[in-house]
Amino acid sequence: MISNSTTAYQQHDHHRCLKAALQQARNRCSARKVRLTPIRESVLQLLWQSHRPLGAYKIIDQLSASRGKRILPPTVYRALDFLLEVGLIHRLATLNAYIGCPFPDSVHSDYFLLCRECGSVAECSAESVNKAIVSTAQRAGFVVESQTVEILGLCTPCRETAAQQQADE
Ligand SMILES: [Zn+2]
Ligand SMILES: [Zn+2]
Ligand SMILES: [Zn+2]
Repeated sequence: MISNSTTAYQQHDHHRCLKAALQQARNRCSARKVRLTPIRESVLQLLWQSHRPLGAYKIIDQLSASRGKRILPPTVYRALDFLLEVGLIHRLATLNAYIGCPFPDSVHSDYFLLCRECGSVAECSAESVNKAIVSTAQRAGFVVESQTVEILGLCTPCRETAAQQQADE
């Protein structure tokens, strides 16, 4: 099983996450002979500001603000499609938002742990989950094209804060 849950919810040197993500993105694009254009890279950077997913309109606003001119939605959607296609980001259907993938180079079936309090999302991947999904689909004669499993709950810091507040009441 792989997961970035130890960093996603805790205080950490997030700059390292960002640096690693950008490096992985450059390597992946050059291996596939596709271009990580400035706009694509900027969108990826915005998604790596934190471990909280961002909706397309937030990305458009932030990008427009940082570039000092209005960036049109299709430009951002095209960049998002590219990043999805190359496997550098994921789309979280329930939130209608996007998040950077912390381990694009490993073959993985994703499931996401969404904290409903702080909004941070950890990505996990486990062979056993993947097998269960594939065999269930096979039994149903169903061909899986994409899968995103989203699990809602509370992360450790938020759970501790909630417990502390209850104790204080
Ligand atoms: Zn981080
Ligand atoms: Zn991923
Ligand atoms: Zn939380």
